[in-house]
Amino acid sequence: MSQHSLETLSSSSFDIVIAGGGLAGLTLARQLRRAHPSLSVLIVDREKGPLPEATHKVGESSVELGSRYLETIGLRDYLVKNHIFKFGLRFFPGGGELPIHERMEIGPAQEPIVPSYQLDRGRFENDLRRMIVEEDGAVFLEGVKVENIELGTGGERHRALLSSGEMEREIDARWFIDATGRSAVLRRDLKLTRGSGHTAHSGWFRVKGRVDITAFSPNDKRWTEAAWAEHRWRSTNHLMGNGYWVWIIPLSSGNTSIGAVVHEPPHSFDKVRTLERTRAFIQEHEPRLYEILEGYEVLDFRTVKSYANNIARGWSADRWALVGEAGAFVDPLYSPGTDFIAFANSFTEEMIRADLAGEDLEVRARELSMQYRSLVSGSTDIYRRAAPVYGHPRAMHMKVYWDNFSYWSYPCQFYMQELYRLTGEKLTAVSLVGQRYVELSNYVQKMLAAWASLKQERPKGSFGGMPHFPSVLIDAHMNLRNELSPDEALEYMRSQLVLAEEIVSEIAIRVAFEVGDALLDAWIEQSELKTFNLRLSSARIASEPLRGLARRRALSEIERDLERTLGRGESNSSEGAVRERLAHLIVDDLGARVVQ
Ligand SMILES: Cc1cc2nc3c(=O)[nH]c(=O)nc-3n(C[C@H](O)[C@H](O)[C@H](O)COP(=O)(O)OP(=O)(O)OC[C@H]3O[C@@H](n4cnc5c(N)ncnc54)[C@H](O)[C@@H]3O)c2cc1C
Repeated sequence: MSQHSLETLSSSSFDIVIAGGGLAGLTLARQLRRAHPSLSVLIVDREKGPLPEATHKVGESSVELGSRYLETIGLRDYLVKNHIFKFGLRFFPGGGELPIHERMEIGPAQEPIVPSYQLDRGRFENDLRRMIVEEDGAVFLEGVKVENIELGTGGERHRALLSSGEMEREIDARWFIDATGRSAVLRRDLKLTRGSGHTAHSGWFRVKGRVDITAFSPNDKRWTEAAWAEHRWRSTNHLMGNGYWVWIIPLSSGNTSIGAVVHEPPHSFDKVRTLERTRAFIQEHEPRLYEILEGYEVLDFRTVKSYANNIARGWSADRWALVGEAGAFVDPLYSPGTDFIAFANSFTEEMIRADLAGEDLEVRARELSMQYRSLVSGSTDIYRRAAPVYGHPRAMHMKVYWDNFSYWSYPCQFYMQELYRLTGEKLTAVSLVGQRYVELSNYVQKMLAAWASLKQERPKGSFGGMPHFPSVLIDAHMNLRNELSPDEALEYMRSQLVLAEEIVSEIAIRVAFEVGDALLDAWIEQSELKTFNLRLSSARIASEPLRGLARRRALSEIERDLERTLGRGESNSSEGAVRERLAHLIVDDLGARVVQ
């Protein structure tokens, strides 16, 4: 389908060359041609189309930030028509041996307000290959490999050899973008890969036909007659246990993607090295799913060892950039792959805009690389210690509350309000807010991991949805629809940070009461609570035994929001023990912390 071949390519010089036409490269080509129609864009992929539907690649579930990105490059109508409108993320932590209706279900009960999509990657990339040529005027070469890249320095142009097997051709460009996915040609050449401190592996396959999780327990009325029962299949469903989770993602081609993710420790790559081992792992940990999958034809199998990494830098004043998995990858839980494509592609567009405007590229490249590295490492912290939490229903529920609140309040707003375009002091002000979110998030992850490993529990068939309106969590989600100026956005993030401080304090108090006197010291030590820069309200601790109206009156808006969402926690620890062990954090007046 490509308009050009190596033979018919009319020019050897381009403004921008993108190596790799996966999701990152294709969307970047579209974004750049739309933002800067005067620039010539060549995009080259080694694979010839048409690409297979269903079995092409992972990266099938998108969330709010990545979906917004796809919409901003004019794909909303296309996605609605050709892919699946997603019914949010849904988690079933712990209890793999139980019938599904006896597990805890965490997920939306209603259609999410801010849309996201389930993507069939083969179908999407086939369509994007056509669209970027026909609608956007990019030049696309398929079945052609990019080799021998010579990066120019200073004002020099970059050179690369294109090879189709039968023919070779040299091209040059002002900008060179590496979008070669895990081949990561530039990252490897320039030795830019950095560890992320997170070791996890995955094995995945697609099965023919739809796997509807509601049909797993056809005889339980509470399960099958829930208002959202008929929509569950459109969610990204996660069946979870200690150190692992299994995804079930529907594809618009009518098939289903199944994948197992294992954290090391406790599980090694060996568990997902082959299809047989991945299936054996599912049989051992998720026997109900295994039985159901036995009735399906398996279409393919892929695996990836130790998928997470960070990078030293992703943008250079010498006019090259790394996007998509050619840059960094965090973790697939919460489906943030497309989010990071949105960040890296938009940072690249910002660099090219600055280049056209004659601005100082050194500073921009440094700032954007730093922002990206912080976003990757802050995001990785969410997963690094999460292994025990995946098997602990109520700790996972708390994690989902916090992770959603912080995701919607900081990275989503940072991207959606285009704060990456800020520079100098304004960018520093935003970064300071981001740093505190990361710090708070680390506290939450440590407290929950320690609770989950010290005091395991089995699920009781229950539903943990989003709180009903009005709620600070729902507000954070709805506010994604707002358009704010940079100053308004900073103001908003700071006001959300005040709420975030209180949410984390409330999580600390709830978990302190959960663990019980005998485990309090171990929990404090394992979660490193002594090092936390956090304030806990004395009044909140005093209100723990209250019930009914007296309790509702005593709790703050945030404390009530968590209680309405998570239910009342167990008061296993005595007030005296909590006060004594957490004395260094307890204050009479919580006040508001202000990050300037
Ligand atoms: C286990 C797992 C699960 C995931 N699940 C999700 C999810 O649910 N949601 C989500 O958003 N993300 C998910 N991701 C991440 C997602 O897969 C990536 O974000 C996305 O696929 C990256 O796209 P890309 O364009 O960077 O790379 P790719 O899609 O791999 O594209 C790279 C392209 O470069 C081409 N190429 C390579 N070398 C050359 C060369 N030398 N010359 C020319 N062409 C070349 C290849 O043919 C390929 O088409 C997941 C990742 C993993 C590991």
